[in-house]
Amino acid sequence: MSTPHLVEGQFFQPLSSKSRAARLRVEPCEEGLFVTAILEDGDETAPLAVDDLQAEGCLHFAGGCYFKADRPLPQEIASLFKSRTQRRIARLEAFSLPKALALGLALILCVLAFRAAIPLAASGIAAALPDRLERMIGEQAYASMKVTGFADSGIPPERQQELRRRAAALAETARLTRRPEIFFHRSALFGANALALPGGPIVVTDELVALLGSDDAVLAVIAHEMAHVERRHALQQVLNVAGAAAMASVVLGVDDSMIEELSATLINVWSFKNSRDYEKEADLIGLDILRAAKLDPRLFLTAIEKLTLQGCADLAGDALARCRDKSVAVETGWMSTHPAAKDRLGYLRAAIGG
Ligand SMILES: [Zn+2]
Repeated sequence: MSTPHLVEGQFFQPLSSKSRAARLRVEPCEEGLFVTAILEDGDETAPLAVDDLQAEGCLHFAGGCYFKADRPLPQEIASLFKSRTQRRIARLEAFSLPKALALGLALILCVLAFRAAIPLAASGIAAALPDRLERMIGEQAYASMKVTGFADSGIPPERQQELRRRAAALAETARLTRRPEIFFHRSALFGANALALPGGPIVVTDELVALLGSDDAVLAVIAHEMAHVERRHALQQVLNVAGAAAMASVVLGVDDSMIEELSATLINVWSFKNSRDYEKEADLIGLDILRAAKLDPRLFLTAIEKLTLQGCADLAGDALARCRDKSVAVETGWMSTHPAAKDRLGYLRAAIGG
């Protein structure tokens, strides 16, 4: 062992701004450097592992304590530290690239697994849930919506019965496995709308019937809603949101309100995207249901056009043109949970072939 170097300075405990006068004892040894601090009262610290040497003779040690030399370190001592910290840094750098790659890859895999797992879990759980349970969820939802959002229908009972009979015939010819019940309601809250609840109560509003004008057009929208029921979309949607919320609370934690808000936003965006996928599927199956019954699939396209442009009904001339352009470009009302009108009209026209 060679003679130790002694450096005068101040010694700081971890996270403390209060220093104590000390002498740093630096001694080269087989493992590199043997470093301790001898405090003013004569106490000597345990061996210190040097983490970093900064300018001005400031030495950081593993564990958080550090030493500030009273004068710039003599070259011979500084070089001892430098070679040691540089070796350490070089070692870290050599490891950091593969390590960073591995970490990055692991993170990407986690995110992908997380994103893929939820819809898979939802469709898996949906498939495993008995129909009876799904109907219970839907009936419960319908019962509470009837209180808050639906009033008695003004559509004559005979017309309602005729629409129900024709809808049942559609389900029959398309060989659907689920035969949903259809209810008509007046609804200021939902406006011109149709909804498919889990297990299949389908609700059609008086406002929609009035807007579309013909029963054939109403049936075209009912075919779309029956496709949602057949594919159990509403149930999967419920499970997606519930599952995503539960997973997000586990992964992101529930304590931090900012993170909670962020995760809620993410879930919304996500379920929104999911609902658009379901909408497209229901649109295309709905067209098949109409074709099977020898009904013109253009009925559905016309219904979507009417729904898209319903806000423009009382306008004329330039105002009408502007309203049409805007309605097709933005998503409002019923359209907000559906694919953007422009995309939707586009793929419907392509599917119908005209
Ligand atoms: Zn839909």
